[in-house]
Amino acid sequence: SFHKSKGQHILKNPLLVDSIVQKSGIKTTDVILEIGPGTGNLTKKLLDAGKSVVAVELDPRMVLELQRRFQGTPYSHRLKVIQGDVLKTDLPYFDICVANIPYQISSPLTFKLLNHQPPFRCAVIMFQREFAMRLVAQPGDNLYCRLSANTQLRARVSHLLKVGKNNFRPPPKVDSSVVRIEPRKPAPDTNLVREFDGLMRICFNRKNKTLGSIFRQKTVLSVMEKNYKTLQALHQSQSNLSVDSIVRMDGSDFGDNGDDLRMEVDDGGDDEMELEDGDGGEVSEFKEKVLNVLKEGDFEEKRSSKLTQQEFLYLLSLFNKAGIHFS
Ligand code: SAM
Repeated sequence: SFHKSKGQHILKNPLLVDSIVQKSGIKTTDVILEIGPGTGNLTKKLLDAGKSVVAVELDPRMVLELQRRFQGTPYSHRLKVIQGDVLKTDLPYFDICVANIPYQISSPLTFKLLNHQPPFRCAVIMFQREFAMRLVAQPGDNLYCRLSANTQLRARVSHLLKVGKNNFRPPPKVDSSVVRIEPRKPAPDTNLVREFDGLMRICFNRKNKTLGSIFRQKTVLSVMEKNYKTLQALHQSQSNLSVDSIVRMDGSDFGDNGDDLRMEVDDGGDDEMELEDGDGGEVSEFKEKVLNVLKEGDFEEKRSSKLTQQEFLYLLSLFNKAGIHFS
């Protein structure tokens, strides 16, 4: 009896399992991470190909079945089974991840893997076909989306294998695909990753509209402006802090005087508030700023559905240069 809610669809075609293992490019020295080993059909072949397997399985019954299957065989000391939800598990070191996962965790699992340190060589994962096609979609493709752009910033992704539903028991409702994900090395800076996603959220909100019309939307502008002001205020208070400490360094007296000085600096912060309050024209001033960025990079008439990673990165750099950030 399989649990549909746990996405339990067991691979029953041994030729397919062989093909996945072969396409993974496993080395005999590899520590392999498997997610959702189930009854162990893939696990066994992974143990044949690599040095050891760490398998994370949610269902205790499956864990038992797996342990029973390899108990007393030469495989058993090269297999470590962790019982638990992979999304809540601290992953150990691994060289390569090979897995036929429950599809409901596709997105969080992909990002958990991309965040994993130290970076692994590659992950070869079975996904629902549509999710797989989104991962690998290129500018101009129908399924090109925020997921494609974010993933491809951090990894090279390629489609390896189409897999029909009848290779599983019980068969799922949808077709599947095996995808290879190779994290870029060095990994892009965490801040860049966060900002890039912030920009993608906006750009792919309406991916077939021009950026000009996307960035003219009131809701978009007001969120961006809020961020902008928060950041300005932060910079302001940081420079106040450093003024504060310079004054303190200069003055030998760290007593009451110091506190007074700090108060004065704080008052300076209030000017900011006044500026904000009397801002009848300020929204449109910010809008100008945003539209100027688009004009500078000739992005006004462009559509996200067609923009490459390089173009998005360039757009982000222009925004950043204008003091506009997305995280
Ligand atoms: N790998 C096996 C195979 O190919 O025959 C089974 C794959 S089945 C699609 C997914 C497996 O993942 C099931 O055994 C299920 O119990 C397990 N699973 C479901 N959610 C999980 C989670 N959050 N963490 C770890 N394993 C999970």
